[in-house]
Amino acid sequence: MKINGVIKLQEPKNKTIQEVIAKRKEHSRRVDTKLIMKAYNYAKSRHGDQLRKSGEPYIIHPLNVAYILADMGLDDSTIAAALLHDVVEDTDVTENDITKEFGQEISDMVAGVTKLGNISFATVEEQQVEDYRKMFLAMGKDIRVILIKLADRLHNMRTLKYLKRDRQIAISKETMDLYAPLANRLGLYSLKWELEDLAFKYLYPEEYHELVEGINKKREERLQFIEKIMADIRVALKKHRIDAEVTGRAKHLYSIYKKMKRDNKTLDQIYDLFALRILVNSVKDCYAALGVVHELYNPMPGRFKDYIAVPKPNMYQSIHTTLLGENGTPFEVQIRTWEMHHIAEYGIAAHWAYKEASYFGKKQSVKVTEDKLAWLRETLEWQKDMQDPQEFLDTLKTELFEDEVYVFTPKGKIIVLPRGATPIDFAYSIHQEIGNKMTGCKINSKMMPIVTPLRNGDIVEIITSDNSKGPSRDWLKFVKSSSAKNKIKSWFKKALKTENIEKGKDLIEKELKRIGFSHSDLFKNQYVEPMLKKYNYKNLDEMYLAVGFGANSAGKVIARLLQEYRKEHQEEEVEEKIKELSKAKQRKPKASSSGIIVKGIDNCLVKLSKCCNPLPGDEIVGYITKGRGVSVHRKDCPNVKNLISEENRMIDVEWYIENKESYQADIEIHSNDRSGLLLDILKEIGTTKATILGVKTKTTKERIAIIVITLEVEGLDELNKAIKAIRKVDSVYDVRRI
Ligand code: MN
Repeated sequence: MKINGVIKLQEPKNKTIQEVIAKRKEHSRRVDTKLIMKAYNYAKSRHGDQLRKSGEPYIIHPLNVAYILADMGLDDSTIAAALLHDVVEDTDVTENDITKEFGQEISDMVAGVTKLGNISFATVEEQQVEDYRKMFLAMGKDIRVILIKLADRLHNMRTLKYLKRDRQIAISKETMDLYAPLANRLGLYSLKWELEDLAFKYLYPEEYHELVEGINKKREERLQFIEKIMADIRVALKKHRIDAEVTGRAKHLYSIYKKMKRDNKTLDQIYDLFALRILVNSVKDCYAALGVVHELYNPMPGRFKDYIAVPKPNMYQSIHTTLLGENGTPFEVQIRTWEMHHIAEYGIAAHWAYKEASYFGKKQSVKVTEDKLAWLRETLEWQKDMQDPQEFLDTLKTELFEDEVYVFTPKGKIIVLPRGATPIDFAYSIHQEIGNKMTGCKINSKMMPIVTPLRNGDIVEIITSDNSKGPSRDWLKFVKSSSAKNKIKSWFKKALKTENIEKGKDLIEKELKRIGFSHSDLFKNQYVEPMLKKYNYKNLDEMYLAVGFGANSAGKVIARLLQEYRKEHQEEEVEEKIKELSKAKQRKPKASSSGIIVKGIDNCLVKLSKCCNPLPGDEIVGYITKGRGVSVHRKDCPNVKNLISEENRMIDVEWYIENKESYQADIEIHSNDRSGLLLDILKEIGTTKATILGVKTKTTKERIAIIVITLEVEGLDELNKAIKAIRKVDSVYDVRRI
């Protein structure tokens, strides 16, 4: 009895093209043998007498790569591309030649593999490794390119012993950091394990050999133990009529090594060096087989895991249980269907096997494929919102990983940007200031427009200048990353801010000048605060900004300030106005007791002359006497004629007629109350000849102002004029005499 896969110390034998085709036929009924043979012969003749480092003909390498892929169940095109994968890189065959001979699909795959081969991974910093993996996936475009590249790497690792030590270490490190995690990501576990074990061997040769020795020492003892269990299980399964294959498998070395290091255990303390696997035809049989083994052996508590009911995120399905054998030695058993097994081994590659629909012959269900795609989606952390599995399937080859582009700084730092991103995105992703001061760029050392969409692998150099006037609004149309968009927008907001604040200040000053106020008159805290509050500004700059930007007007802002100003000045202003308006009355010179007014002189002694005895209504003239006041004569008095020579002592006088139809009237004004109302009314009255004798105001609950003004007018006409004037005042809706 043999146990499969016990420690692979020998590399597999080289394969022939016949073996490749045979493997291919295991997976598909329809194999394009002609295409595969054509690719083989083409590659063989182009590589000619090139040799591998091992001294073997070069064609051995593509043949083995093709075989690895055929074993995974990949399609004819992939096998052909695998056979051709090194001809563009290593011979004078061009991409065009391949396209002509084999068509676009195969040519694209070959080009993809060639391109990936040209990326240097050696200088990548720790924190960038994951980005590199992603870039790799992105550059692959067609996932089959990645699979070819992984198979290529696997064969190179298998033949690494022919290279020099420093190359061995560099390639092994790259394998451990990039290829093995990629294989893991894609669910290609068997490939991942082999890559890891091989890299482990070259990176830690001492530990590796120690471990191999240790395991081999236990091998005999272990083999007996496991073989007995396998035999017992087979018998029991047969008894229960469960069709099953029971195999034993050595756990792969690197995982044992990691486990020992992680849990600080010696090899003796690791029991599951060998895992038993039971492969059955159906899920029902999985559970039936589980029942059988649990009947045979006691399960170890806490070690049962049902990944069939609850698959792992990468869609791995299996039942794991650890059982206690003779002497209480634990061993692990995995139970799964053949289909689950294939997925566990080949991950994403299994997809092609299913597509070809012949590998499992009968039970090819669409449902399974959909589940697989769900797994793929999660595994690849695909962000795209793809609802329809069929759509996903259709775009799988072309659009996988296409939402990102991976480019480099001149120093080799990788920058991940959204697909379609331009050097502008690039500049802003490095630093906001770099973006703001950007004036040009070089892509792969060539001056290029800054709106050029970047491609994977581009090396981008940003040219900046301190004299740059900042970004252009057009840039917003060319950036793909929201962070660049936001940074450009914020620049504009900020730049405009300073500019607009200045403009706002200007507009305010102009308006102040126009209405004849000074800045200090109106910009007092007690006026400014209510204005800011009204418009919801945090500070004056915000107000200036709004005015400068046109969101508010200088007129409105100042009106609001004036409102406050007037509130404070109203009382005093009203009083002043009343005083001013009633001055007219005061100004009316007081008549002397004689009923004569001497122009320009109040209260002076006046005497009617006895020579002509003037009567009210007569035309009169005054004569300033020496010490006896003004003597009043009729103009036609002969004495006056004699006095004319003393012109400078003549003075104008007139009769003062008491009852010149002058009377008082009270006017009641109804108005919506507002600030400045009374002042406006008084001003209007000032335009008439009416004299204000008194003002009374009150305001009702409804904010209606009732103002009663006592006027002195010379007649009804004057009164009506005053009323009419008051009606013109804003907010006043009723004026009447009471
Ligand atoms: Mn190769």
